Amino acid sequence: MITAIDSMPWLHTAWNQLINNLRNDRLPHALLVAGERGVGKGDYAEAVAALLVCDRLASAIADSRSAPCGQCKQCELVAAGSHPDIRRYAPEKSRMIKVDQVRALSAFAVASPQVSHRKIVIVNRSDQLNINAANALLKTLEEPSDDVTLLLLQETGRPILPTLRSRCQTVTLPTPDFATGLTWLQQHIPEGNSGQGGAMDQEHLVQALRLAGLAPRLALDYLTGDFIQQRQTALDAFRRFMKNELSLPEAAKPLKTLGLDGSLLLMEKWAADLARLGVGADPADPEAAEMLRYLAKHNPPWRAHELLSSVRESRAAGINNVSPELEAERLLMQWQALMPRRRRRA
Ligand SMILES: [Zn+2]
Repeated sequence: MITAIDSMPWLHTAWNQLINNLRNDRLPHALLVAGERGVGKGDYAEAVAALLVCDRLASAIADSRSAPCGQCKQCELVAAGSHPDIRRYAPEKSRMIKVDQVRALSAFAVASPQVSHRKIVIVNRSDQLNINAANALLKTLEEPSDDVTLLLLQETGRPILPTLRSRCQTVTLPTPDFATGLTWLQQHIPEGNSGQGGAMDQEHLVQALRLAGLAPRLALDYLTGDFIQQRQTALDAFRRFMKNELSLPEAAKPLKTLGLDGSLLLMEKWAADLARLGVGADPADPEAAEMLRYLAKHNPPWRAHELLSSVRESRAAGINNVSPELEAERLLMQWQALMPRRRRRA
């Protein structure tokens, strides 16, 4: 097994499935790799790509290790990160994969491989193809060359065109349980990222993992970036805004810092917690729970679902480069409408 996947036991079932398919000569032309953000879809796709281009693929899959040889020219190029027959496509500045990118992909898919026996295309976020790009990709999927394998990555909850989906074999990567995720996280925290010397304290790892919905890669991103701090600022501002201690633009500012994606993710988690609390279940984010519990007590459950659809609307609008600030303000106003009106003395 490939090292990156080796340390991710929750991906082993999916990996073994692939090996079985290869042994039975049933590798599909296109795989749809689905899963929550941060569970390791990219790691999985890279591992599949590395295995498929290896010159000794046949003996690799016959062997119980099921790993690429690590010694051939292909494996060297993969290790150097410069294999010319593996191409990756992802949304650029516009948040969407554009038709020009898919045209380049299609040209690559029909050309002869340069050094390997096979070409691999990895489309990160195939749930973010604009409609022209999706249609262009469909053509490539409908008439695939024999020597190309497409790996389309899809984040859970973000739909892709059914016509694309139906031409792929879907592999859904699960999210690990808490203990497994925590072990992985402990192994992957980079040195020097541990604050004042010593290991990063357990409490931070646990908090990040919970905030990431147990997706270890996402938790690692949180721990090595600014997200935790920015989220805290946004949460404080949110609380104060709800109590009328902060103006709308002031409350929206930290959400703008988080960016559209980050702030919508926060809002989505809070709205989901509001729904959970409404039915007496435990919230995922304990820090926001007090405020959300209060709102759940004073509002009918459908309000939480209304908020969730609003977040999804904002996300859909994100395709058209809406302003993160305006979307944050719109959602904040909806939240504030959930506050019960205090009686004023006459
Ligand atoms: Zn090799």
